[in-house]
Amino acid sequence: MLSSPNLELTREALATSTLSHGLKAVGDRWTVQILLASFLGVRRFDEIHNYAQIPRPTLSNRLRSLVQMGVLKPKIYQENPPRYEYHLTRKGIGLYDATLMIWAWEKRWGDRAIGLPQKLIHTSCNHSFLPLLTCRACGESVSMKDLSFQLIPNKRLNTATIERLQTPRMTGDGNSVMGLGLRVDRWSLMILSAVILGCHYFDQISKVLQIRPSVLSRRLTSMLRSNLLHCEADSSDARRRVYRLTPSSRDLFGYIVCLSTWAGEEHLHEMSSIRPRHTTCQRSFYPKVACSHCRQDIDAWAVDFEFKGKKPT
Ligand SMILES: [Zn+2]
Ligand SMILES: [Zn+2]
Repeated sequence: MLSSPNLELTREALATSTLSHGLKAVGDRWTVQILLASFLGVRRFDEIHNYAQIPRPTLSNRLRSLVQMGVLKPKIYQENPPRYEYHLTRKGIGLYDATLMIWAWEKRWGDRAIGLPQKLIHTSCNHSFLPLLTCRACGESVSMKDLSFQLIPNKRLNTATIERLQTPRMTGDGNSVMGLGLRVDRWSLMILSAVILGCHYFDQISKVLQIRPSVLSRRLTSMLRSNLLHCEADSSDARRRVYRLTPSSRDLFGYIVCLSTWAGEEHLHEMSSIRPRHTTCQRSFYPKVACSHCRQDIDAWAVDFEFKGKKPT
């Protein structure tokens, strides 16, 4: 039997995590696609509509939310009738690291139908690169096994306060369905976070995420099917099943940590309740995405894209 985490503390930390709030704000499928489009320079309503195949009412709704959150800024490009382009703000550009992590994950594991660039070129060093998750403090590349997690629930991030103050409520379809690719939604990412924090049994996950057993059972089945989790009989009690991460879900950690850091620093201006520490340098861990070739940080304006087919613009 695996050692048991403090379930009450884990429940509170997950509920008040910047990840949970960040995913609510920008983690839904359509918003992720709009952000990808924005970083590829696709800015006009019709272009985004064509690129990401988002139903028009949903696109209007998401663009309005992103403008309200200060992630995108509309600029008029035609007076009569008025037409707008949507430009990333400074806050929006802060989502670049998370977006690069999505690109990297989609390239390895994804099954998304929209056109992603085949290759990223770092214009500072002129080489194609893979985005590398590194530690801001020491610059070393980092994976989940190099981190430990401290849980300090931030009471100011309880759901009631946040929903009133920060996150515009999204209406319409698709809010909680499908974040990345076709297989990963907000709930999958929360379930993976619970497993990362040491909850490996059904009853533990159900308790820390407050998910009804019937609903959790469905979600776990679908995650097992899409290879985001695998499960085995517990070695000390064959009636219990142990849920573990797979290589593809472990690889989602880069996105999880970049998104929750952005949400804490740029969106909520609060410390997350889940605080990673880099065990190598013994400092609090904040991610920075670097170029796999020259190891320099990647700025959004220093990347070119290569497409197999035609460019989206
Ligand atoms: Zn470090
Ligand atoms: Zn480089």
